Amino acid sequence: MRRFLVAALCAGALPVLAAGPIPRTARAAAPADLPAAPASSRVDSLLARMTLEEKVGQMTQLTLAVVAAEDGPQRDSVRIDPAKLREAIVERHVGSLLNVVGGSLSVEGWHRLMAEVQGMALRETRLGIPVIYGIDFVHGANYTRGGTIFPHNVGMAATFNPALARRAAEITADEALASGLPWNFAPVLDVGRNPLWPRFYETFGEDPLVATVLGRQQVLGMQREGRVAATLKHYLAYSASHTGRDRAPVELSARGVRENYLPPFAAAVRAGARSVMVNSAEIDGEPVHASRYWLTDVLRGELGFQGVIVTDWEDIYYLHTRHRVAPTIKDAVRMAVEAGIDVSMSPTDYRFMDALIELVREGAVSERRIDESVRRILTLKEALGLFDAPLPDPALRARFATEQSAEVARQAARESITLLKNEGGILPLKPDAKILVTGPAAQSMTALNGGWTYTWQGTDASQFPEAPRTVLEAILRRGRDVRYVAGSGFTEPGDPQAAARLAADADVAVVVIGENAYAEGVGDVADLTLPEAQLRLVEAVQATGTPVVLVLVEGRPRIIRRVVDGARGVVMAYWPGMQGGEAVAEVLFGETNPSGRLPFTYPRHPNELLTYDHKFTETLSPAFGGQGFRPEWPFGHGLSYTTFAYADLRLGGPRMDADGRMTVQVTVRNTGTRAGEETVLLYTRQQYASTTPYTRRLRGFQKVALAPGESRAVTFVLTADDLRTVGRDGRMMLEPGAFDVMVGGLTGTFQVTADAARTTTEGR
Ligand code: BGC
Repeated sequence: MRRFLVAALCAGALPVLAAGPIPRTARAAAPADLPAAPASSRVDSLLARMTLEEKVGQMTQLTLAVVAAEDGPQRDSVRIDPAKLREAIVERHVGSLLNVVGGSLSVEGWHRLMAEVQGMALRETRLGIPVIYGIDFVHGANYTRGGTIFPHNVGMAATFNPALARRAAEITADEALASGLPWNFAPVLDVGRNPLWPRFYETFGEDPLVATVLGRQQVLGMQREGRVAATLKHYLAYSASHTGRDRAPVELSARGVRENYLPPFAAAVRAGARSVMVNSAEIDGEPVHASRYWLTDVLRGELGFQGVIVTDWEDIYYLHTRHRVAPTIKDAVRMAVEAGIDVSMSPTDYRFMDALIELVREGAVSERRIDESVRRILTLKEALGLFDAPLPDPALRARFATEQSAEVARQAARESITLLKNEGGILPLKPDAKILVTGPAAQSMTALNGGWTYTWQGTDASQFPEAPRTVLEAILRRGRDVRYVAGSGFTEPGDPQAAARLAADADVAVVVIGENAYAEGVGDVADLTLPEAQLRLVEAVQATGTPVVLVLVEGRPRIIRRVVDGARGVVMAYWPGMQGGEAVAEVLFGETNPSGRLPFTYPRHPNELLTYDHKFTETLSPAFGGQGFRPEWPFGHGLSYTTFAYADLRLGGPRMDADGRMTVQVTVRNTGTRAGEETVLLYTRQQYASTTPYTRRLRGFQKVALAPGESRAVTFVLTADDLRTVGRDGRMMLEPGAFDVMVGGLTGTFQVTADAARTTTEGR
């Protein structure tokens, strides 16, 4: 079971902290009265009849464990304790549940559970308001048995294929709905600019544009029928933890947050996302759950978000117990409600409710404020159709885990696989080669799927379906002479010499290394270097002189400097999901021409974690004692079994149009002998600006499929908005001046005039 009741609280005698606005740049004028989300007559009439206790109950979310029987977790279902359920739903009026107990449920298990929960809510509560169930389907239907499992977001990003990201989200929504679960805690829109962060794999990598484009597609896909709500998380800058640990403070100015972390949220709000989950950490000394600035002024005021803001796990209490900005739980509740939260993922007790009721009775929080949140929550329930159809629809079973969905997952895994190195054309492998397969990830399904798979940590493969294959099994189906020995654990030493003995007699050794599954803080590491046991295995195999191909199965880039130069081939698989073993083998044997591109900078040194778009001052030339920029592989890197050439970069003119547009065209040609796909990445760089410019920033990408010899003109239209950055005053700005545009090794330059700089396409 995941996480338990918190220890008893000690309401210490902390000094009462001075409240009041924190001065910042770009502080939006906080609208005293935000426009209320439009509500239906049903919602208004319910609200008019609700008691304070009923309202506060709607603002509370409990984890399933609270209402489960002691022997709750069963093989594929959960036994509910009716007395506990009654206490939550009927006596305490709780409006929402989340999560699993002990792991995944079958579709039927979910249906039975939802029938009990909704049955009680509808029949035994005064107003019959249905419960809304929240779930973390972060890479497919990862908590329903047999559900379609996609690569984690970092792998989806490597596909650079927005249509695929959307299709995956549509399938996830179908399977969520088929399970009877309408509120999905996804997509994760945190931008992964620190690879130490243990939730790196949940991100679309380090670039804000990639996260913006793919995140928006996931929202549109997930909400396409309007019956599943997407949740943007974790608002805001959660991934910018300054130590790289989970939930650690973010030491960024509001400018830095706006520049690199806000854009995906802004775009997803514009795409109609129905809910947002809050970052558990703090920004510049202020816990986000207590931040009226980020939650109300920016999210509701500036971005115009009208949906539901849900806290993350236990985070209101943590304002008191961890962040220590609230001397008591009651203060914590007041602060979070004043900041703007609607639903408290409490998640194991009723302290939030009790405190909030008291606060309203005492006049410290107005009932009008409570009504705002309840109106949003009821509006969400109504919009998802819960009032009219609260129970899962058995007919939707037909949409669950279809063959077509499995094929989409396979395609996503395939397109994510990134060929990082292929010296002397060691790949593709020949089926009649003598192949040694070794390494701890070769025979592991948990490493292919990563965290959030059937269980929170993803480490219990006993629940997984039989059919999908490991990398080893997929290789065995293809190779004629394949030997295997594990050679090493993920962290524990194994028998590298056994692997070396087999390698000595092989034509090629495929060493499958990386990380086993983990989730959240459990995945914190003190060193990004691949664990010693695995490095020793690779070295032992390399010492035999047999060519080595490394397959990296990992949630974040583990440093492999010691063994990379001795490897002839390197294939990055990320955490590709159930279909990943087959997808890797297809690439190894050349059945698929790899087309993935790194959505992050792969570091070579543990203390050199630079992003591709670093500032000029960060990579001074080695000639003057600087260290230059020397990643293992750069952002966007990825080889193919064919080759591509770029030519004929054409700009629409020497300067951006007065209406703020610049056309950029480039011709890409497949110069090899195989059909392949190339992701065209377009970067710009402002030559001089009042806020230090980036060395380059991605402004557009397109993936094109080309037959051998075929060429294609690829066109981008840049707008003034695409070039905007955040100025030192915190406002979006575009200063006139010269911009370089870089595509596939070609460079052009154009001018942005003052007129062009003033235009905007937003809202057009
Ligand atoms: C995670 C969230 C998740 C929530 C509910 C938290 O610990 O940070 O991403 O949605 O738990 O499971």
